[in-house]
Amino acid sequence: MNHNTITGSWTPGTEVLACYAFSGTSTEDLSFAKMERLTIVKQTNDPNWVKARSRDGVEGMIPTSYVMECKKEVKLNTTAWFHGKITRDEAEKLLTSFEDGLFLVRESTNFPGDYTLCVCFEGKVEHYRVKYKDSKLTIDEEEYFEDLTKLVEHYEQDADGLCTQLKRSVPKQCRREDAQDAVLAFKEAGWAIDRQDLDLRDPIGKGEFGDVLLGDLLGQKVAVKILKDSSRAAQGLLEEASLMTSLKHNNLVNLLGLVFEDSCILLVTEFMSKGSLVDYLRSRGRLHVSKRDQINFACDTCSGMAYLESQKVVHRDLAARNVLISEEGVAKVCDFGLAHEMNLKFDGGKFPIKWTAPEALRLNNFSNKSDMWSFGILLWEIYSFGRVPYPRIPLADVMKHVEKGYRMEAPDCCPPEIYQLMKDVSIKLYNTMIYQLMKDAWLLEPSHRPTFREALRRLAHLQHSTLA
Ligand code: ADP
Ligand code: MG
Repeated sequence: MNHNTITGSWTPGTEVLACYAFSGTSTEDLSFAKMERLTIVKQTNDPNWVKARSRDGVEGMIPTSYVMECKKEVKLNTTAWFHGKITRDEAEKLLTSFEDGLFLVRESTNFPGDYTLCVCFEGKVEHYRVKYKDSKLTIDEEEYFEDLTKLVEHYEQDADGLCTQLKRSVPKQCRREDAQDAVLAFKEAGWAIDRQDLDLRDPIGKGEFGDVLLGDLLGQKVAVKILKDSSRAAQGLLEEASLMTSLKHNNLVNLLGLVFEDSCILLVTEFMSKGSLVDYLRSRGRLHVSKRDQINFACDTCSGMAYLESQKVVHRDLAARNVLISEEGVAKVCDFGLAHEMNLKFDGGKFPIKWTAPEALRLNNFSNKSDMWSFGILLWEIYSFGRVPYPRIPLADVMKHVEKGYRMEAPDCCPPEIYQLMKDVSIKLYNTMIYQLMKDAWLLEPSHRPTFREALRRLAHLQHSTLA
């Protein structure tokens, strides 16, 4: 990340991201936190200072060396949904995850020259014939399009008569050239980091696809996931990274950039010094994790998830092991956007069964509501200080019990002295409310489960009444 590239780009309206925190010394200064996003208002005669506005509308002077221009979002394979000549059966196989709005386009087998749009909805695949008429394309003979991209874009905006709006495409198998195009796309959008700017340090974790190392990026501590370019997962990592470029939230682990080397790709994210939530809870235990910490972790995670929900992104692997804790103790969700990697990962029967909703296990029906189920399990992990869910049930029997209506009991209570510090909600009611949220998250019918937005409202209410 070359901070110098931004010199001269202080045009009003430009969005910048804070690399460091800044606390102003005069009333004219605008203080900000690291990672905060600001908008440039106007340049000054001094190249080291510009006037900027914060998200909540406050304006003031900021030092230019503390911020960098926000990078653009990277979109990969914009026409990857086009699968050419594949049969109806093959299309249905590719769409087996049955996620509402999952789609692809193929050449029609019955009507050569025409196309077919295949869309998942409520566990079934609908096949819409796309006809050529007067050198335009149409499905309903009401709306006409010049090409397939325009047609897809239209139905991504609105269902407009289809069973559902198009949400996510099944991309065509990736070829070597596509990976190279992807690398170019990241470079052009400003996400490439110079290898010289990054020092690699000790290993801090092991990921599914390679080691995670501590790194130093121009003085800032970062986490670096290393991926051998040759591995099947490289493309998955690029997909994950491209999704990460479009998602920004204080409760999601932030992508800083990528390093492209001949034989590997390095994914650079902010460093979360306190490690994963599950390790945090287990190592510190009930003596050192307060009620206040617990509700904060729950609210943080829920905020990150509410943001993903608002962006129509499904996580699929939400669990305390995929939530990381920052130096300041903020919980942030990681490993999101693994939709494609998931197919690789879960092929070998490695489904995180205890965290996955029944409809997702049975029908591959992943949604924000199946994420909510996992969130209920995560809440249980928080309140049981990192225990493994369903402690006494063998893995193979979990689903059977759950489908018969079995649900985990409320985790054991906290030491009474901690309770006494709570303000107006009585202890019993407090615990009941948290447990009620878990049970709502575990309702068999997905649509009866709360949204993350709703869950956040309920948790925030409890957060306000928690003192320690
Ligand atoms: P995977 O994609 O295989 O699940 P993760 O992203 O969950 O890999 O990373 C594996 C482990 O590496 C985590 O459990 C954590 O201990 C460590 N780790 C990953 N990212 C970070 C980070 N940004 N900061 C600190 N530790 C991290
Ligand atoms: Mg993980």
